[in-house]
Amino acid sequence: MPSRRDTDFTAPDFDPDAFLDLVAADVGLIQRQKLHDILSRNANVEYLQRHGLNGRTDVASFKQCLPVINYQDVETDILRLVNGDTSAPILTAEPIVEFQLSSGTMGGKPKYIPTTARYAEYSLFYQSLVNAMCKKQFKEWRNGKSLDLRSAGKLTDTPSGLKAGSATTNYLKSAMFTDPRIEPDVSCSPIEVYLCDDFNQATYCHLMCSLTQAAEIVKFHSLFAASLVAAVQILQKCWVEMCEDIRSGTPNAKILNPELRRAMEKILKPDPQLAAMIERECSKNDWAGIIPRIWPNTVVITTILSGSMQHYVPILKHFAGNNIALVSLFYGSCECHLLGLNVRLNCPTDQVEYMIWPESAYFEFIPVAADDSHADNIAPHSTGKKTRQLVDTADVELGKEYEIVITTVCGLYRYRVGDVLKVKGFRKTTPIFEYIGRQNVVLSIASEKTDEAELNSVVHKAARQLEGTGTELAEFSSMADMLASPAPCYVLFWEITARCNGILDAEVLQKCTNTLDLSFNPRYRRWRNEGQIGPLELRIVTEGAFKQLMDSAVSRGTSSSQYKTPRHVKSPSSALEILDAAVVATFKSHANPMGNVDPPPS
Ligand code: AMP
Repeated sequence: MPSRRDTDFTAPDFDPDAFLDLVAADVGLIQRQKLHDILSRNANVEYLQRHGLNGRTDVASFKQCLPVINYQDVETDILRLVNGDTSAPILTAEPIVEFQLSSGTMGGKPKYIPTTARYAEYSLFYQSLVNAMCKKQFKEWRNGKSLDLRSAGKLTDTPSGLKAGSATTNYLKSAMFTDPRIEPDVSCSPIEVYLCDDFNQATYCHLMCSLTQAAEIVKFHSLFAASLVAAVQILQKCWVEMCEDIRSGTPNAKILNPELRRAMEKILKPDPQLAAMIERECSKNDWAGIIPRIWPNTVVITTILSGSMQHYVPILKHFAGNNIALVSLFYGSCECHLLGLNVRLNCPTDQVEYMIWPESAYFEFIPVAADDSHADNIAPHSTGKKTRQLVDTADVELGKEYEIVITTVCGLYRYRVGDVLKVKGFRKTTPIFEYIGRQNVVLSIASEKTDEAELNSVVHKAARQLEGTGTELAEFSSMADMLASPAPCYVLFWEITARCNGILDAEVLQKCTNTLDLSFNPRYRRWRNEGQIGPLELRIVTEGAFKQLMDSAVSRGTSSSQYKTPRHVKSPSSALEILDAAVVATFKSHANPMGNVDPPPS
């Protein structure tokens, strides 16, 4: 197995492709060794003892003894750790050093993922390898500066004395972030900007720092594409103030965080010429190609673009123009850090794929059949439910979809991450996956189950009707309105932005509503036809409503860098209240779910 400890990723002769080939050469072997390593290190932990593994480390015993679990199955053990139970090693032999808060929740409660020092080791490895890959692909990577839009959220204390925070927050607040082996000092922003836990202030300052060094910026980075789009929207909203700050050399009064203010005072020098350039570009009120117009040497934007982030690709392309590469580097989660790596950095944005990273965890895959209702059908060892055979990494089949299950060195054993992946190919023996979506269903009224992937594709199909109106879909979410009359119905919330004098056209929006209603799965249409599901409703919200939703989540502790717009909101919930308060127009479908469109009621 290629060992990352022996590898110098910064050596001039380091060849990332040869290294990837080495990692990919024998996935079965690496996986067996990985499992052996995890189980032998943790042989005496309570969890493995409880399930009768008794120190065995082979694949067969592991599969025979251990159940496939969700977070709720291990929550009691995790909460013991959170509450400081040190009576025995519970999940890992190595000490827990902090908790990652997953962006997913369980019934609104946070999910705490315990981590050991080894997690940090993986971060070091991942960052170094990705840097080497990017340096090879983009020559400019070595020289210029980066506008890195990440910022830390809040850390919370747990009774154990350990901190809990999002993976990004933990990382930015750790010594690793300032370790020159990981983050060579190429950022345009000082550390104070990263550490500010107010997303708006931090993003404003990231942008300001990049504006003062506009010619040196060669790359943009954010964890998820949503934060990058949010940053450009802040520029759209605040460019007049930004120009004023640059002209006067004084940070804006709304930068309240004292450390941040001091840091910005050091950076800002009066520069009327620069202010005039930014004013000239922003006052055109045309945001096409705004990134190269203001930061002319930018060659690449690295940010996650797959899954629910696909939605942001068109607007990002609009801002970036045709000559800046958009690269989705990796697929990860706080439970495992690196799940997959994009080994084809120049792939088109609609064909992003990730090679499973066989050194990160021991992986298993639950086959997902096309007719699956997904939830509840895989529960080995549980109460008489249907059991499906899990497949090893070496045995997944091309074209098939699977739900990913992980066993990690940080104490999760046969844990369902909740994501569905599709096998698109192999590098040597190692599978390369497309990220399909969260396994869980987001909308269900009758027996139909609509998942996130379907919701995304239906929304995008309907939103195509906005083409040519000068408007476009900026954000969306959904809910099942179980109290609607005459029958429960799907409700879609859309935030629409207008470009170049575009205005909302009621006729077009009615068509979008009908298309949405006609485009869900056959079961949905059947229940619609039979009246169990009522006509779909489209609610248009004011611009900024989804930003408000994000601010509200961030104020409750979600990391702004990891925030993802919820594509589904519950009723009742504070998210629904925010969206409902912002509704400016409502459309009810006139579509006949069997395919025809009824005339509107008079
Ligand atoms: P978190 O629990 O906050 O670390 O979020 C992890 C989840 O984010 C994963 O389980 C995925 O659902 C999603 N995610 C992470 N990386 C990607 C990616 N490259 N493409 C699409 N979704 C992703």
